[in-house]
Amino acid sequence: MTATTFQLTTLIADLPGVEQMTVEATQHLGLRCVADLLLHLPMRYQHTRPWQAIGPIIDATTEQATAEDHVEVRGEVVSVKRGFGRTPKVEVVIDDPTGDITLVFFNQPWIQRRLHPGQKLAAIGTPRAYRSSVQMANPTWRALDDDAVLIPPSDASDLVQIQPVYPASEAIASPRLAAVIQSCLDQAVALLEDHLTDAWRRDRNLPTLADAYLHLHRPDFDDQIASARRRLVLDELLMLQLAVMMKRHHRRTALHAQMLARTEQVQRRIESRIPFELTTAQRRVIDEIAQDLESSIPMNRLLQGDVGSGKTVVALAAMLQAVAHGKQAALVAPTELLAEQHARTLQALLRDSEVKLCLLTGSVAAARRSRLVNDIATGDVNIVVGTHAVLTEDVIFADLAIAVTDEQHRFGVRQRAALRDKSGDQLHAPHQLVMTATPIPRTLSLTIFGDLDYSVLDELPPGRTPVETVSVTAAEAHAVYDDLAQAVGRGERGYVVAAVIDESESGLVDLHSHLEWLRNGPLQHCRIEALHGRMDTDTRESIMERFRRGELDVLVATTVIEVGVDVPEATRIVIENADRFGLAQLHQLRGRVGRGSCPGRCVLIADPSTDEGQRRIEAMVETTDGFRIAERDLEIRGPGELFGARQSGIPPFRVARLPRDMELLSLARRDAEAWIDADPLLQAPEHALLRKRMLKAHGRWLGLGDVG
Ligand code: ADP
Ligand code: MG
Repeated sequence: MTATTFQLTTLIADLPGVEQMTVEATQHLGLRCVADLLLHLPMRYQHTRPWQAIGPIIDATTEQATAEDHVEVRGEVVSVKRGFGRTPKVEVVIDDPTGDITLVFFNQPWIQRRLHPGQKLAAIGTPRAYRSSVQMANPTWRALDDDAVLIPPSDASDLVQIQPVYPASEAIASPRLAAVIQSCLDQAVALLEDHLTDAWRRDRNLPTLADAYLHLHRPDFDDQIASARRRLVLDELLMLQLAVMMKRHHRRTALHAQMLARTEQVQRRIESRIPFELTTAQRRVIDEIAQDLESSIPMNRLLQGDVGSGKTVVALAAMLQAVAHGKQAALVAPTELLAEQHARTLQALLRDSEVKLCLLTGSVAAARRSRLVNDIATGDVNIVVGTHAVLTEDVIFADLAIAVTDEQHRFGVRQRAALRDKSGDQLHAPHQLVMTATPIPRTLSLTIFGDLDYSVLDELPPGRTPVETVSVTAAEAHAVYDDLAQAVGRGERGYVVAAVIDESESGLVDLHSHLEWLRNGPLQHCRIEALHGRMDTDTRESIMERFRRGELDVLVATTVIEVGVDVPEATRIVIENADRFGLAQLHQLRGRVGRGSCPGRCVLIADPSTDEGQRRIEAMVETTDGFRIAERDLEIRGPGELFGARQSGIPPFRVARLPRDMELLSLARRDAEAWIDADPLLQAPEHALLRKRMLKAHGRWLGLGDVG
């Protein structure tokens, strides 16, 4: 291949000197072309002094008592043997003219096939005396050419060399990967065009895109790594923020919504529907929303309120503001169970009013469904409650003014805009309110939901006491259920949660066997039923209804009850295999109790097998404050997995890590805001490449296609 045909899209297979085996191994890592190699960044760096650190083997084996750092030895393989012991290991003895050393590879049985006597290799590790020999455990190693020099020349310098260590695999070790990357690095970075201007970089003292990649793959100094990383992180966050700001700008300038003026009369009528004294927080948030609704700029507001904070009536108030103007409102829920419950709650609040409300879920029979769809299209229905899938399929509203999405801790950023009405006007949009019980750390919500305005219900209705939470081991389960039986005897109600429905090899407590056990054992005097997502709606409804009315004492359920189920009389929840649930999930489950004036109690049964599981349990016992839980979740898991971020379609960060890179996020946000203010569609010629790359990264999930 000639230099002129080399491109970033050139396949690894077409690079000179790369064998088939390497090509396949890189493919397994998801690497196909030169650009993929560039983007495959080192996970850490190893500092070696190339020759000074490479001693003859005799030095490594005699100085090992003081060897703290890694040293490199080079030798010829003498023998390759499988070793014995609890962990599978392969022992490889290498020698040079001065002595020998044993390399011990734990849990890497394939080494036995890879190495053979006579082969030369370099190994980096820490030598340690073991019995009569000197060993290096799990060294990094690479094959050397047959004519490689084993003992360093006498004039070796003591320059420190920084070696990148790459995420690698069984099939290809980091040094081999490094060699492939190095072989095309100079050519590759020469092709990189920077999408940020020289002025921007100079102001922030950051390298070009080309230098950033060069320095990460081949650093001369540690400082270079730090500033290269800074450049790429800022870059990545900037792209995201630009996309989000562009979307925001579009919404605020191009789109328009119904103006729903709030008169005193409307307000009184709305308030008369609410059977209790609103909390100060509810009042404030209802006001914030009402103001948004008066404007022709489509509202895009995120309402955060911990479980039980009373989001439903806030949603009702917002929807009634639309209904008062003869427009329609929709409430979208993540599960049928929750949609059913919302419909029931709202019906009760709207009893004897003119407002027509309907429930539309996947379980509604075809004939009824088509009638409802028709009523929605003609405007005969004012408020539609339904599940996501159902409300987006073929449901066209006559005049939809507001869509409320109750997502609990699931986010569906992508689906949010999908509700349609008949206006046929592309630029017409309903007001949107997204409610979540997941307290997103403020910092994170800014990043991901930068396009959202933000309200918080930071106050629980009066009379609530925090749920008491304890954790016990499986061995103590019996006592827990005896206690539950006693509580039931006093008239309390409770939930028992199992992680799986059917018995399986997982060893997890399953709903069916557990129900049997409870029925015949500790809860034999209780009225008890199962509840799970595989039941048909009628069965589920009737069980929920019986539980609500107090005709059942205990529900043995899967996580179907995690979202939104509201039975204020339930005071107890027992969660089996609690370490298997995510923290947000546990917090939601716990939120099922302590919703009324009676104090709630949550028991987590677990014998955590992982450190993370243990930490989740500890966090739950430690606090009932949703915001603290969310912060802990962020610490334990990192934001990648957080709050179903993946489902939302937000591309995962490649280099940025939050909350570690928070400071850079603020910088990115400031820049993005200023740029979009000055050039809303990034149409300036110097932004052309930036715009192209930004749309490629974020255009789809944010639905920026319509922005231009
Ligand atoms: P969530 O925010 O979890 O959706 P809900 O809207 O389901 O909370 O409200 C939880 C419970 O608290 C419901 O039974 C509701 O009727 C009740 N509630 C809400 N607001 C108040 C209030 N201001 N005073 C008393 N009870 C309230
Ligand atoms: Mg709710």
